[in-house]
Amino acid sequence: MEMHISRRHAIAAALAFGFSSSSAPARGDAVAPVLSERLKNPKLRSPLPGGVMAGYAGDTGLDIGGASLSVHAIADGTLDYAERGHTRWTGPRDTAMSVRLALDEPIPWGKHKVTHVYYTHMARLDLQKAEGEAKVIRVAAGQRLGTSGTANGIPHLHLGLLCDGQVEQDSWEFILRENEVRKLLGGYANGERLAPLVARTT
Ligand SMILES: [Zn+2]
Repeated sequence: MEMHISRRHAIAAALAFGFSSSSAPARGDAVAPVLSERLKNPKLRSPLPGGVMAGYAGDTGLDIGGASLSVHAIADGTLDYAERGHTRWTGPRDTAMSVRLALDEPIPWGKHKVTHVYYTHMARLDLQKAEGEAKVIRVAAGQRLGTSGTANGIPHLHLGLLCDGQVEQDSWEFILRENEVRKLLGGYANGERLAPLVARTT
């Protein structure tokens, strides 16, 4: 239970920092597909523009607070799946869409390499693929994957970085902790906000 309280605390604190949704384009303007900005680690793109770092010790990844923000690929890769499920948070106060991306270029992490990125608690998906389905869906760094949602009544995205092709998330050895995820993304502090998405009109 303590885990849940500290998690709630971290996200509530992060949300208190405030985030404004990016301004909507004027009516009639065509909006080009928008890639998310580079992170402090310039090899990676923002997973949740406008989101606020809200990690808590003991999570299997990093929580990023924010309501109905667009979710993006942090690097080039191939979709393992984009579908409902792959999370234990499937109750009435949860949105249960998840995405897993196999990275084209694994990211070195100590004696390990981050090979997969896992996103969950999403409300909507731009792409659809069932796990094991044969179709190949390529994703570009910064490409939009869908929209963030809610788990346990708290609007946030869960971002997991998985090592060495071990994607079951059943051993801590192959999952980065929240502080490790923040470090790999470029050294973010909890409470820090990712730049909002800049809508470009054509
Ligand atoms: Zn989480």
